[in-house]
Amino acid sequence: MNAEYDHRVPLDERALLRMTDRCVQCGLCAPACPTYALSREEAESPRGRIAVIQGIACGELAPDAHALAHLDRCLECLACEDVCPSRVPFATLMDAARALLERSRHRPLRERVLRAALLDGVARPAALRLAGRALRLYQRSGLRTALRRSGILRGLGLDAPEALLPDVAPLRRWHGRIPAQGPRRGTVALFTGCIAAVLDRPTLEAAVRVLTRLGFEVHIPSDQACCGALHQHEGAPRTAARLARRNLAAFADPEVPIVTLASGCGAHLARYGTVCADDRAAAFAARVRDIHAFLVEVPWPQDVGVAPLAARVAVHVPCTLANVLHQADAPRRVLSRIPGLEILPLGGGTHCCGAAGAYVLHHPDEARRLREPKVAAVRALRADYLATANIGCALHLAAGLRGERGAAEVVHPVVLLDRQLAAGAPGG
Ligand code: SF4
Ligand code: SF4
Repeated sequence: MNAEYDHRVPLDERALLRMTDRCVQCGLCAPACPTYALSREEAESPRGRIAVIQGIACGELAPDAHALAHLDRCLECLACEDVCPSRVPFATLMDAARALLERSRHRPLRERVLRAALLDGVARPAALRLAGRALRLYQRSGLRTALRRSGILRGLGLDAPEALLPDVAPLRRWHGRIPAQGPRRGTVALFTGCIAAVLDRPTLEAAVRVLTRLGFEVHIPSDQACCGALHQHEGAPRTAARLARRNLAAFADPEVPIVTLASGCGAHLARYGTVCADDRAAAFAARVRDIHAFLVEVPWPQDVGVAPLAARVAVHVPCTLANVLHQADAPRRVLSRIPGLEILPLGGGTHCCGAAGAYVLHHPDEARRLREPKVAAVRALRADYLATANIGCALHLAAGLRGERGAAEVVHPVVLLDRQLAAGAPGG
């Protein structure tokens, strides 16, 4: 195995060509591809990107900025992999191509600094917590308002990422084990994620309340790490593998399911068996459960009351939930537990909303264009809530609705369920 690349697919040109050779160039993937829909350029389609990788791998195409831009603009939404009749392993191929090309790539200084800050930052929980506290201070001190008005953020090119940030809730310390309410019916381990643990505490706390209310003891391993998805997709598989090994150690009990809230993290954890060369990885991946699927699978205690909610909720299905975990219907089924709630599929097409990990930071204009049909669909539905199961999608969609009068509240489905469980509890 290549020492630089702890991956089950050896990282070299021949391995890339073995994967690209599976493409029969039928083009069936093109209608599923969001970037092809935006540009109508062949090189921005899955088949075109495969041809670019093939050309570079066999030495016929120079890996110059023009060629690499086509690979960079791939969202890794995997809509193409899902529809491909030849089963081209697109995620593995794109990850491997980016990792291989990263070695010889010359990025401008600003890009190198931002990339390092992002990839190092999410890998360090203590640094993230510190950043979360600083962010909360920034938001509450008036500095945010002043900086926004001054135009400094725009001048530094930070206005788009800053606009994604929600108001940060207080970062209380987690307790390692939270007991079940009432008789214990099992134990689950909760994967908190990196960004979500700082920017979306309310959802994590809601999940703990829902799981304990349904009779599960919740274990939150303190030594868990970022899932590594960002690193895997950004050409840094060695860091991704290091993070994976930390999670394999942190979630060591083979009997306990690992429940995830953000479908982006869940999709990557479920891939550990194929991306991480560790004997424990496949068994770990088999224990990963998206929280919606878990809540659909387990029987609920008979005494659980869910208060009705007379409201309209539009349900957005993140690509990772649909194309990787294949659990597209699970959030709707969870929400259907709430009496009176009108559940509406979100229109605006099946393409990715444009969040896609770090894509929204690297390509803010394209991300906005991909988001617009979804935001327009929420407005057209006159929904009270927009429910989505992925933190990246939630931040991106919420930024698209922010400031609109009567805009839908963007929530994780589990947050709505938690509210109605609380209202349905005795004395609630
Ligand atoms: S659907 Fe599959 S085989 Fe057909 S062009 Fe796309 S990637 Fe190639
Ligand atoms: S992963 Fe998504 S954006 Fe990338 S080529 Fe496939 S369909 Fe297009």
